[in-house]
Amino acid sequence: MSDTIFTKIIKGEIPCHKVYENDLVFAFLDISPLSRGHVLVIPKEPAATLDQLSAESAGALGEALPALCRAVMKATGATAYNILQNNGAEAHQAVFHVHFHIIPKVETGEGLGIVWNTKSLESGETLAASIREHL
Ligand code: 5GP
Repeated sequence: MSDTIFTKIIKGEIPCHKVYENDLVFAFLDISPLSRGHVLVIPKEPAATLDQLSAESAGALGEALPALCRAVMKATGATAYNILQNNGAEAHQAVFHVHFHIIPKVETGEGLGIVWNTKSLESGETLAASIREHL
């Protein structure tokens, strides 16, 4: 896989405002924040989408995320936030290196806007069975 801009950020070839790093995880401020404190949390492993990520990196991300959320809330004073994780261009992914957005939601309304167009659940048991079979 060719390097994305996030690989270059991890390597220090492109500057960023780093907030955290360990052997497997890197976190930094988003260059175009939706609100103050918008942080990107990424694995060092250059997987394009979450389904391609190793269990080791996934575990490390899962461990780091709650601590980073707490730190973002304390640093910004926000009491609400969204985690956003896009996979695929149709799902609004622009950088093809796994990343979790931590986006504080603040009183001014700044943060992640959500349009939630719900549908009726149909053939739920068949669908659930199919998903179970593929695990
Ligand atoms: P996506 O739409 O792929 O989920 O989000 C990619 C995010 O990466 C965007 O929020 C965008 O602002 C951020 N981003 C893109 N290039 C850079 C960069 O060079 N530096 C930083 N800090 N963030 C970036």
